[in-house]
Amino acid sequence: MPEDADRDEPVRVNFRFRRELAQKIEGNLASFCYQCGACVGDCPATTYSSGFNPREIMLKVLYGLEDELLGSESVLWQCTNCYNCHERCPQEVKPVEVIISLKNMLAARGIYPEVVSKIIGTFETTGRTVRITSAIDRQRAKFGLPPLPPVPMDEVRILLEPDTGTDEEE
Ligand code: SF4
Ligand code: SF4
Repeated sequence: MPEDADRDEPVRVNFRFRRELAQKIEGNLASFCYQCGACVGDCPATTYSSGFNPREIMLKVLYGLEDELLGSESVLWQCTNCYNCHERCPQEVKPVEVIISLKNMLAARGIYPEVVSKIIGTFETTGRTVRITSAIDRQRAKFGLPPLPPVPMDEVRILLEPDTGTDEEE
């Protein structure tokens, strides 16, 4: 909640933002969160970084606090997408998938850290999020694994084309 919020003023739930988010995750998952905190205990982002707490993020989603969630100082990029919260949540809220959708909304606004920008660049040029080096191939060979096959970049480029929404179902 905003720290400078006037305590006499009730917090108004932003249902428009909640509906927008629900459309992106194909279900209003966050609305089932009853704030038990089970998702926090095994969250590496909570343990190793400051200001990140998946229960608090779900609370902000419940209130529809768009500006806090999608601001330039958003903590969401600290989430490692490890899915521990998904395994722990008794309500099947899938907090990680809510957070991924919020990250996508941040990226659509051009708000993402430099490291994410580098990963996007690597994917656009190689079709992978990590460049495959001869050292990686040597490591794979040590474990009896073959070199990774080349990525079909023509298919990747099709995937990267903007969705114009003009396709019609047959
Ligand atoms: S997916 Fe993100 S929020 Fe969930 S436990 Fe892992 S780091 Fe925490
Ligand atoms: S574990 Fe699930 S229900 Fe509990 S606080 Fe986290 S998201 Fe909400």
